Amino acid sequence: MFVTVPKFIQLLFPSIIWKKETTNKEIWLTFDDGPHPEVTPWILSVLKKENIQATFFLLGEKIEEFPCLKTKIINAGHTIGNHSYSHLNGWRCNKNTYLNDIEKCQKLMPENNLFRPPFGKITTPQITTLKQFYNIVLWDVLSLDFQKNITPNRVKKNILNNTSDGSIIVLHNNKKSYKNLEPILSKTIQSLKKSGFNFSATW
Ligand SMILES: [Zn+2]
Repeated sequence: MFVTVPKFIQLLFPSIIWKKETTNKEIWLTFDDGPHPEVTPWILSVLKKENIQATFFLLGEKIEEFPCLKTKIINAGHTIGNHSYSHLNGWRCNKNTYLNDIEKCQKLMPENNLFRPPFGKITTPQITTLKQFYNIVLWDVLSLDFQKNITPNRVKKNILNNTSDGSIIVLHNNKKSYKNLEPILSKTIQSLKKSGFNFSATW
C-alpha cells in the first residue's frame, strides 16, 4: 500500500482535495472513524498539550452513540467532517445507498461541508454528485497507523519522511490505531513543529 498518493492518481481526480496550496508551511492532521470513547479524549488531550488544531472525519453511527464527544471536539476548536454514517465502501455499493448514508451523517453535522470517503474509495459518478455539496478530502500522506503488524516507529517515519507544505495526513481515531499512535503522536507532532510546520484545521 502506498504511503503517499502518486501524482498521476491525484491528477486523475482533480476535484478531490489531496493536498492544500499553502505558502505558510501549513499541514493538516486528520483523524478518521471516531468518535471513540477512549481514543478521542486521548487525542484531544495530546492536541491540547501541543496546542494545535486538527480535523476529525466522524462516522454518523458513532456520533449517535457518543454525541458529547462530537461536542467536545468542536468546543476544543477542531474541525469536523463527514465520513459517512456507516463506513460504506463506495466501490461496492450503488450510488443511492452511498449518497443516503452520507446524507444521514450530514444531518448530524449540518454546518459541515467536508466529506472524506471511507477507505478512500469513491467512484466518478459519486464524486460528480457529491462535489456539488461538499469539498471531498482525501490525503497525500497515509500513516498506515491502522495496519496490524506495523510498528509505532514506522508510523512516525511514514509521517515525517513524507510530509511537505500543504500535506494532509491521515490518522485514525479507533482502538486499532491507538497502540501505534499512543507511543509516537506527541513526538511526531513535536518533530513536525521543529521542521517548521504549522498545523491548520481551516479548509
Ligand atoms: Zn474510515
